[in-house]
Parts: sequence; structure tokens; C-alpha cells
Amino acid sequence: MDMKTILSTIETEDIKYVDFRIVDLLGRQHHVTVPAYAVEEDTFLHGVAFDGSSLTGYKSIEESDMVAMPDPATAFIDPFVEEKTLNIVCNIVNPDNTPYVRDPRGIALRAEAYLKDLGIATAAYFGPESEFFLFDHVRYASGPSGSFYHVDSEEAYWNSGKEGQNLGYKIRNKGGYFPVQPTDTQADIRNEMCTLLTQTGLKVERHHHEVATAGQGEINFRFDTLTRTADNLLLFKYIVRNVAAKHGKTATFMPKPIVGDNGSGMHVHQSLFDGDTPLFFEKGGYANLSETALYYIGGILHHAPALIALTNPSTNSFKRLVPGYEAPVNLVFSKGNRSAAVRIPVAAVTPKASRIEFRTPDSTANPYLAFAAMLMAGLDGIAKKLDPREMGFGPMDKNIYDLSDVEKNEIKSLPGSLAEALDALEQDHEFLLAGDVFSKDLIDSWISLKRDEIQQVERTVTPKEYELYYDL
Ligand code: GLN
Ligand code: MG
Ligand code: MG
Ligand code: MG
Repeated sequence: MDMKTILSTIETEDIKYVDFRIVDLLGRQHHVTVPAYAVEEDTFLHGVAFDGSSLTGYKSIEESDMVAMPDPATAFIDPFVEEKTLNIVCNIVNPDNTPYVRDPRGIALRAEAYLKDLGIATAAYFGPESEFFLFDHVRYASGPSGSFYHVDSEEAYWNSGKEGQNLGYKIRNKGGYFPVQPTDTQADIRNEMCTLLTQTGLKVERHHHEVATAGQGEINFRFDTLTRTADNLLLFKYIVRNVAAKHGKTATFMPKPIVGDNGSGMHVHQSLFDGDTPLFFEKGGYANLSETALYYIGGILHHAPALIALTNPSTNSFKRLVPGYEAPVNLVFSKGNRSAAVRIPVAAVTPKASRIEFRTPDSTANPYLAFAAMLMAGLDGIAKKLDPREMGFGPMDKNIYDLSDVEKNEIKSLPGSLAEALDALEQDHEFLLAGDVFSKDLIDSWISLKRDEIQQVERTVTPKEYELYYDL
């Protein structure tokens, strides 16, 4: 929609409220709601004022007056609000209308503009696969007897095999990947999510139960340009969470809610196009990849230690990136191999669909920052002709989990913790500053915000410590 269409839609659709949405540095959405009768042309020209000082990551600035500048192209009718409400995603600008340097959406837009300025491609496409769990309740155990958490979900209940309670047939724990109902207890709820996703403008491609036992799901929606996809991802999370809430459940995108089972990733498919021409395809090479694609992969893998401070920015992220759960641990690329950080899909791939899949990210990332950072790493690879084959990044078509220790030693690993990733980002961030896409100020505040999270986690006494040390 454009501004005029929105103003007329307010009339024709009898819209009661307009909800203006902005994102904080961590990737959480916030909103200000305005009665529809008060929304006029000026709202789009001058924006909606808000106090930025209470938003995570923004408060260190002296000036807390900020403006949410609506992007009419993002409008959709909110399916969860009783009074008919139109939601619009906004950019954050300063009172003088200049872009606010820390606004993540502004960074995503600048990354796209930078791509066009370079003349390498006209568009970068991103397709995230954001996995999630649906739980009835998550209770945090605080005593020495409990595990770190106690998860109540329908499936966890059936699978718990509580002594004396479930004496009949018990749905097996690891029942194989995506069995039909009744083992899949969440097919209806995922259908409902998809219906609303479609209604709000996303193109749903498929949904399925994921590998983890206790209610893990995945819904895929169609790729789009960088900023649009980040908008779509936030809309996706909003819908998943709210449909879950309607059913008395909670949805979590945290990467590793259950020790010993698969975690939730956000694999990100990426490709560059020049007009209609796909730039990642060239028949005959390894996995039919073009040189541009190889250099892009080289950039991603070369910068990965720093990059994942933005694509995997939680302490919990690194509990997912361990061997054995289809999450990557090594810095290699490969066709088909799901244990590699970069996978090249080859099944049913046409030239237009040729792409790379970076499997490391998870949904605790702020999608605007994460997608922009991945693009910047890839573009740096193209500019510097970083050939992953000459840098020890593969291709590696064996299952990396099964390699001998000697073979494993030759492969570079991802950082093992958020602290290591932040150290890497501190050392390696020039590629993000190119074209003034990211600013040093943003990188510094990101690092300090995340180091503070690490400290909070490290200072917390966990049940695991009781288990290890209580009776020592
Ligand atoms: N859940 C796995 C991960 O953490 C991926 C599983 C899959 O999509 N095949 O990345
Ligand atoms: Mg998938
Ligand atoms: Mg998956
Ligand atoms: Mg995938």
C-alpha cells in the first residue's frame, strides 16, 4: 500500500486504530497506537513521536525524542486485535528527519542501497527458516532436584513416560522425523498460523513438525528482498506467538530450550540477482555455483567468527551449535551436507533458485542486523575474491560429525561461546562499516549490551551447579 491507499482503506475498511511498530536493537518489536481518525497525510510526512530512552540499546543517546516514520508498504490488518487495526512498520528517524544511526531497519535499508551502489547486483534475496517450539508451560526449577527447566507440552507429557501413569501405548520419543497425527499434535495449530500468515501477506510455502520431540515446528515462507524479509520475519514471529497464546501455549524461538534434543535454528537462504539474472548459478562448477557465489561464501565463512556475534547473539545460541543435532559446528561449505555451516541446496534447484544456505543463524538474531551483516560479509568476499576452496573451507561432502580427529583438526570451527564471537567482532568489523552501513557506535553498543547479558548469565546460580557441587 501507499499513503493514499492507507488513508482510503481506513475509510472503506472502517479501521479503528493504526498501530505503528518499531524495533529495538535486540530485535523486539514495540508499538504506539493512534486512533484511525487522527491519522492523516502529516502522520506519514512527519511521523509519530515517541520516547526512545526506554528501548533497549537506544538509551545511551542524550536525545530521547525520536520519530517513528511509517513505511506504508508494510501495512497489514492485525488479526489479533478486537477493534479493527492496521499495523505499519516504521523506520526510526531523528526529530530533524535524518535516519537514526542505530535503527536496525535503517541499517538493513542502507545495506541494500550499498549493494546497488556497488553495481554488483540489483537485489539480494533472503529466505529464513525459523524453527520454534510450542510449549504449554515452561517452569524454571529452582531446587537441587530439578533439571534446569521443566517443560510441559502435550508431547512432552506423552513422552515423559511418567511411572505408573502412561501404561498403555506411548508415542515413542524419537519417533522419526515428521510423523503424521496423532504423533504430530500441532498440525492444526500450524495450519491456523499459516492461514493468518497468508491473510497478512506472507507467501507460505510449507509447514512441518521438526525433529525435536516436544513440539518443534517449522513454517517456511517465500524469500524476498533483505529489508522486506526482516519485516516478514518479525510478522511471522508475531503471528506464531499470538496463535500459540490463543491456544494457551507459548512459542519460543530460543535456540536450545531442551538439552539433549535438537535446537531451533534459522537457516538463511541467500542469493544475488542482477535484474532477472541469477548471479549464483553457473553450470558445470561445484554444485553449479558461479564464481560470485563462491566468493560470497568465502566472505561469509571468513567473517563467520565475527558475523555470528550478530546472527547467533545469545549465550543460548552456542548450546545449539554442538555436534549431533543437525546444527553446524564447522566452517565449511558443502552441497547437501547438513553438518556444514554453508550448504548448497541441489535438490530441485533451477538456475533462478540457486542459492546458498547459511545454517548457523538462529532466531535470537535481530533480523535487520543479521541479514545486513551477512550481505556485507558476502560482498566483502566478492570484493576481495575470497575463494573458500583456497582458504580451507571445503568443499566437504562427508558427514563432519563422523570425521576422525585428525581430519577434524584440519577444519576451522565456529567460536564456542558468545564471548568468543564478541571478541572476534571487536577485531573484525571493517566489512560492516563499508558504505556507512553499520557504524562503530552501533558495533560498540552491541558488544557492551551482549557482554552484559553474558555477565548476567554467568552470575546466575543454576541447578546444574547444585547437581555438580552441592554435595562436594
Ligand atoms: N534444528 C536444526 C538446527 O538447529 C535443523 C534441522 C533441519 O532443518 N534439518 O539447525
Ligand atoms: Mg527447513
Ligand atoms: Mg528445519
Ligand atoms: Mg534448511
